[in-house]
Amino acid sequence: MINLSSTTEQFNSHIMGTYGRFDLVLESGENRTAFDENNMPYIDFGSGIGTNSLGYCDNEWVDAICNQAKKLQHTSNYYYTKIQADFAQKLCDETGYSKVFFGNSGAEANECAIKLARKYSYDKYGKGRHNIITLVNSFHGRTLATLSATGQDSFHNYFFPFVEGFIYVEVNNIEDLKSKLDDTVCAVMFEFVQGEGGVIPLKKDFVDAIFTECANRDILTIADEVQTGVGRTGRLLTSQIYDVKPDVTTLAKGLAGGVPVGACLAREKCDNVLTAGTHGSTFGGNPIACAGGLAVLNKICNKEFFEEIALKSNYLKNKLMEIKAVKKIDGLGLMLGIVFEKDGLSAVDVVKKGLEKGLLLLTAKEKIRLLPPLTISFDEIDEGVKILKEILN
Ligand SMILES: *Cc1c(COP(=O)(O)O)cnc(C)c1O
Repeated sequence: MINLSSTTEQFNSHIMGTYGRFDLVLESGENRTAFDENNMPYIDFGSGIGTNSLGYCDNEWVDAICNQAKKLQHTSNYYYTKIQADFAQKLCDETGYSKVFFGNSGAEANECAIKLARKYSYDKYGKGRHNIITLVNSFHGRTLATLSATGQDSFHNYFFPFVEGFIYVEVNNIEDLKSKLDDTVCAVMFEFVQGEGGVIPLKKDFVDAIFTECANRDILTIADEVQTGVGRTGRLLTSQIYDVKPDVTTLAKGLAGGVPVGACLAREKCDNVLTAGTHGSTFGGNPIACAGGLAVLNKICNKEFFEEIALKSNYLKNKLMEIKAVKKIDGLGLMLGIVFEKDGLSAVDVVKKGLEKGLLLLTAKEKIRLLPPLTISFDEIDEGVKILKEILN
């Protein structure tokens, strides 16, 4: 007989074991603090993998979602809703994109981008130009196509056959890029800062080479900003920091503050590619998700908010560098990867010790990864860093 007295046992006996979970049951949250079943507080330096961009239960965000749930929680995409139109208009206005397709996750946003790129090319040039270049060590999602796009061998197991038509180029290797950009390629897809891969920002000259080479050949540039987007790195889009304009940008994680949403944004030249019947999603553009997304954009889309992210980022980095075991900090804005050296202590060990002391952390490969809520306060940064310092000293 299985003992179902505890939540973890109940959970594990009914839910597939796709995650190595930590022994923590979260029950509620307030501002940037989560609480477990015993009401123990945890400063949140992970925000549900960069998803709770406004922290827990931000008042305006809660109101927007509750009011929408009381009015209309869902309808099919065979009809129009004002809230989907409002969210789409705000998103396009703020990002400068022409049109958006809404799904429910990062993987779906990327699936849409992959289909869009292949059809854009098929419409203009016919068959045979279907290959998509992605980068070694990238991460693009867990569906079959986005796993295939992911440039890490460890993801290419068990689920054969994978989706054909992905070619991997080494990060920051312009020669490798040029040698693989031939007339079979319709798009180059990349993260400006590889997230799951270890918080590794691309070099500016490599990004510039992607854009120059692609523009010369009418090859689409697809920026996977599922993790880097929506203020995470200090601007609405990380492409603004690199000063480039991808043909397609995908967003998800932080976009709606913790309700499921994915967005594939594209420039004017893609306006007529995905026509009626060529793509869809039952839940895509769901009114509650759109209300959450609009509340996030309304809060963050102003100069002061982005300037404050930069201030907090510098403050956090400086505080972290005061810890002796911290060797180097990679990343941009509030997306940071900590390289540290502490005998016998792995990144996962640090996360576990954080849980004992009331701090939520993430890892990315061998680094400690921080993705705190964009609304984190200086005091909360102090408190979290203090705990991290105790662990690493
Ligand atoms: C998380 C992530 C994804 C996948 O998003 P899901 O919502 O889990 O499908 C895709 N790309 C990047 C860069 C991500 O960080």
